[in-house]
Amino acid sequence: MSLLVVGTVAFDALETPFGKVERIVGGSALHFSWSASNFVEPINLVSVVGSDYDFDEIKALNARGVDTAGLQVKEGEKSFFWSGRYHMDMNTRDSLITDLNVLADFDPILPEAYKNSDFLMLGNLSPVVQAKVLDQMTSRPRLIAMDTMNFWMDIQMAELKEVLKRVDVLFVNDEEARQLSGQHSIVKAAKLILEMGPKYLIIKKGEHGALLFQGNEVFFAPALPLEDVFDPTGAGDTFAGGFMGHLAATKDISFDNMKRAVIFGTAMASYCVEQFGPNRTKTLEHHEIDERVQDLIDLVQFDISLVD
Ligand code: AMP
Repeated sequence: MSLLVVGTVAFDALETPFGKVERIVGGSALHFSWSASNFVEPINLVSVVGSDYDFDEIKALNARGVDTAGLQVKEGEKSFFWSGRYHMDMNTRDSLITDLNVLADFDPILPEAYKNSDFLMLGNLSPVVQAKVLDQMTSRPRLIAMDTMNFWMDIQMAELKEVLKRVDVLFVNDEEARQLSGQHSIVKAAKLILEMGPKYLIIKKGEHGALLFQGNEVFFAPALPLEDVFDPTGAGDTFAGGFMGHLAATKDISFDNMKRAVIFGTAMASYCVEQFGPNRTKTLEHHEIDERVQDLIDLVQFDISLVD
């Protein structure tokens, strides 16, 4: 099944309590693609970079089955740049710099072959661009998922709410769910967000796992308790890559299969946080993904008998 992702391909500068890197590849579409390429081929990528980008990285993605015919290269311009700092509690971070550069006037143009993709991931990006992508689809994908963040809620909330009406799945973290809904309780926030359009909602809570909501149903996946969390950047996109990759590979969008997809997303994210940027995700092998899925099964399995 074809999987299309639209999002950022960026340079990041990252600072965590364990180290610092001045320039590393990143962006929502890049992290997503490295992750999803473990499950399905091809991944069709739509984004924009400047001529300063690291094109060896793009070649490496191509070698992994990521089609970049939809990646625009703006000659003489600078790529999107984001810099973030994490504190000891790595569930929260400060965005220090967001230089939109080529992203400021990005007009996504979908190659003909992408326009009838079965699965669509609208990665974290301006909701105006996300809407332009939806407008170009010639047939409605079987599943449209979307990610966003506080940056876009602060400056384009009305546009974001319009896109929400057109998608099936929304990924947000707990802080973003609160900002979007105006509710502190995650359960109340989920109810309100599900009334805004998406049928399914995934709320990521960093080291405290992730919740999948549909109607009155809720499924919880814990995060794996890891000894070392080095850099959480991209964990959300890597999670989404595992989730969408599994659904596209199995061609099954039932709620039960979405629960399994949440587990694959969790396993992928658990690797992402072990090294800077996408470094760990890039080297993953299938047996390692299966090992983490098994760890998750073992973590939550218990025998219990209830006596009336
Ligand atoms: P995550 O940690 O999964 O939320 O994703 C981190 C990635 O998002 C980084 O590699 C950044 O380049 C990218 N990013 C940061 N800010 C934005 C933004 N405002 N829009 C799109 N992508 C962003």
